[in-house]
Amino acid sequence: MDLRELTTLRVGGSPRELLSPETPDELVRASLDVWASGEEWMALGGGSNIVVGDDGFDGSVIRVLTRGIEALPSVPGTARLRVQAGEPWDELVSYTVDRGLAGIEAMAGIPGSSGAGPIQNIGAYGQELSDTLVSVEFLDHETGRLEVIPAARLELGYRSSVFKAGRRGIVLSIELELTDAEGLSRPVASQQLATAIGAAFGDRIPVGVIRDAVLALRRVKGMVLDAADPDTTSAGSFFTNPLVAASFARALPPDAAQWPIEPDRVKLSAAWLIERAGIGRGFSLPGSGAAISSKHTLAIVNTGSATAYDILELARFVQERVRNEFGVALQPEPGYIGMTSGD
Ligand SMILES: Cc1cc2nc3c(=O)[nH]c(=O)nc-3n(C[C@H](O)[C@H](O)[C@H](O)COP(=O)(O)OP(=O)(O)OC[C@H]3O[C@@H](n4cnc5c(N)ncnc54)[C@H](O)[C@@H]3O)c2cc1C
Repeated sequence: MDLRELTTLRVGGSPRELLSPETPDELVRASLDVWASGEEWMALGGGSNIVVGDDGFDGSVIRVLTRGIEALPSVPGTARLRVQAGEPWDELVSYTVDRGLAGIEAMAGIPGSSGAGPIQNIGAYGQELSDTLVSVEFLDHETGRLEVIPAARLELGYRSSVFKAGRRGIVLSIELELTDAEGLSRPVASQQLATAIGAAFGDRIPVGVIRDAVLALRRVKGMVLDAADPDTTSAGSFFTNPLVAASFARALPPDAAQWPIEPDRVKLSAAWLIERAGIGRGFSLPGSGAAISSKHTLAIVNTGSATAYDILELARFVQERVRNEFGVALQPEPGYIGMTSGD
């Protein structure tokens, strides 16, 4: 089976081997067997944050399909959950919202698996996984041992973690601590979301209202997977928002969208940089099957016939334009599999 069938961008050739263990024990065994063989390998969840090369992947792909949500003992006012890595993230959000639990409601609609959440510390509309993550159960590639790693040791930052930085292994499950406060959300931490629901920044709103408002906002941007919407054949945002020195940001045009992170560090809007570099929604290179989404400048979409090469070529074009115009190096958010950004 080609990996294009298992990824949301729908590009990429076949792996040497595709393993689909069904239980946590089988997942551990399959991983250890592959590692003992010394061949290349990768974990695959929902395939929503990777670009697989046209020649496929010369190694074993270990699919993470294990599901289950378990309520753990917790103190009043909180709820602890252990979630198997293959549990679809959005279904986990629905599970928590249906029970009036708060902490991940603003991350509704993010595709993929729960176990992939810590890899880039998923986030949206003012919430990040690091706000609620207690620990991960991890099978370490280097030692072959199972360990429970507290979230504080995962170096979770903006779309970053020890895993993104190179620590390899399989996340088997994650443990979350949510708030149980009569169905009210955590304080709204996104101005865009607050405006959409007619609330103020910091208000606490019924979690279901937050979830529905976020899904509506995301649909307008093509950020909820939907077979009827061609703009969702993507990997979501293709570039992260660059973090730069405040002095650098001050030299940009006054309307440059930016958010202070620390006293001397600022997050710039990658979408603003791309648009102001002259690349608008729907942009495509001649003859290419890849395009900028017609709804969201940050997403690169497969219009139907794209190869992985088309996706990379457009990504590189965007990076070059932004570098030439502003001197900023945009970093791709999805991982490149079976190819490098220089291919
Ligand atoms: C339409 C759309 C909207 C999106 N919106 C957002 C958003 O708002 N915020 C956001 O943060 N992201 C967003 N994303 C990106 C993506 O959904 C998330 O990064 C998600 O967590 C990826 O999950 P996955 O299971 O699909 O991971 P995959 O794409 O399968 O894998 C991604 C990486 O994680 C590794 N991995 C996966 N599972 C495991 C595991 N169990 N153990 C170890 N490594 C593992 C893989 O090897 C790979 O390196 C969006 C993507 C799309 C397509």
